[in-house]
Amino acid sequence: MTTPPEKITVEYPECSAVYGDWFRASMNLMLDDFDEDYIDEASSASCPNCGHRVDLDVLIIEEDGVWRSRDRDTRTD
Ligand SMILES: [Zn+2]
Repeated sequence: MTTPPEKITVEYPECSAVYGDWFRASMNLMLDDFDEDYIDEASSASCPNCGHRVDLDVLIIEEDGVWRSRDRDTRTD
């Protein structure tokens, strides 16, 4: 299932600033056709103070029903 957007509070590790954001704890792309930009928005937060970006722990099931690592540092495609 895809969970609805939830408000969260994020403490950014770079500058220790605390800001509100939102995320979806899980997204199932078999059921919901979100584009990459939206998935990005819903699974990360950017610090309004310093611009540092953090990836939130979000479960994403892709269109074919498979979970894959979306770690941007090691993704090769
Ligand atoms: Zn910051």
